[in-house]
Amino acid sequence: MVTPTLSQASPERGDNNEEPADHIMPRRSSRVRKPPGWQLSGNWGEKRKGYHAITRSSELFFRSVCLFLLLCTRPCNLPLNYVCTTQHCFDHEKLVRFTLSVRKNYHKVPYHNWWHAFNVAHCMYRMLDHEQEIFTELERQALIIACICHDLDHRGYTNQFMVKYETALASLYSTSVMEQHHFNQTVTILQQDGHNIFDHLTSDVYKQVLGYIRHYILATDLAQFFSNHKQVTRFCADQTFNIENTYHRNKLQAIMMSACDLSACAKTWPVQKKTVEIIYEEFYAQGDLEKKKGGVPLPMMDRDNAHNLPKEQVNFLRIFCEPLYGTLAVIFPHLSPLLENTKDNIHKWDNLAHGRPTTMWEVETSRIEKD
Ligand SMILES: [Zn+2]
Repeated sequence: MVTPTLSQASPERGDNNEEPADHIMPRRSSRVRKPPGWQLSGNWGEKRKGYHAITRSSELFFRSVCLFLLLCTRPCNLPLNYVCTTQHCFDHEKLVRFTLSVRKNYHKVPYHNWWHAFNVAHCMYRMLDHEQEIFTELERQALIIACICHDLDHRGYTNQFMVKYETALASLYSTSVMEQHHFNQTVTILQQDGHNIFDHLTSDVYKQVLGYIRHYILATDLAQFFSNHKQVTRFCADQTFNIENTYHRNKLQAIMMSACDLSACAKTWPVQKKTVEIIYEEFYAQGDLEKKKGGVPLPMMDRDNAHNLPKEQVNFLRIFCEPLYGTLAVIFPHLSPLLENTKDNIHKWDNLAHGRPTTMWEVETSRIEKD
């Protein structure tokens, strides 16, 4: 049995990037790769320049407290705001401690690190900012917390890898191996002294919020995506989608989690291209390890197949992202820029796949410039 051990952050110390002791995989020397584009404000419904590079980079302040500030220091109608006057307020100190511990329990892997979690949470934040009335305050809080926790203790290996090599975690969970672990890590952090940001809730409501978070985190398993997406698409097609219907609502929230998790695909081309390089750095590290173990990695994990990367991206974006953002744009028209960006990225990857020139930034054709 694997007993999760956690690194607990101390707000007083502020920063500590030691990895958790619970390692079932060899450590890698990979650098932590920060996603290339951030923006803490902006309106992607108005303009597509929603993600330009943020100016502050790796300073301690930004890394450790930025999320807290993002969530807590905005006007009181936003998803998480401890100064709000409603019954579900967070305690300031616990929220800081919880956020720092979450950050500390992300590994220094190239892609599935704290920065990825932050990006996903930011995407959800922007979605909720537009849709404050649709979801309850508890749902909004659970969605944001699920986003920052959704890859906790990720070691940079896929579920398939964990199962194939019979890791300890794979023996604990029969499906969605890592996602179930990410949720359990979230609960374990909440249970640490002074970390339970939901401890003001009654036990029934506390169970309810944990249920939300579990549902949202498990929804980030891509194996669940097709089923969730197919149902939402069907509801939309036959015009029976009803946000008040709990089942419909759960399915919508599930694909919103997928949309945030994959949001790098829906960002502008420079951000998408750089992020894909980082993702493949992690894929190839897994492929290298598989080869060392005498296995044969999937083609996309094999650095010897790097020449196929653009084609693989075209396929991935066409199969997963274009339908996903297409469906969301039907339900939430303000999200249509995500679909437009995805289509642009498909076009550019397709150019690369066919040896046609694709500049990093096509000023003449960029709709961003025209906005
Ligand atoms: Zn993720």
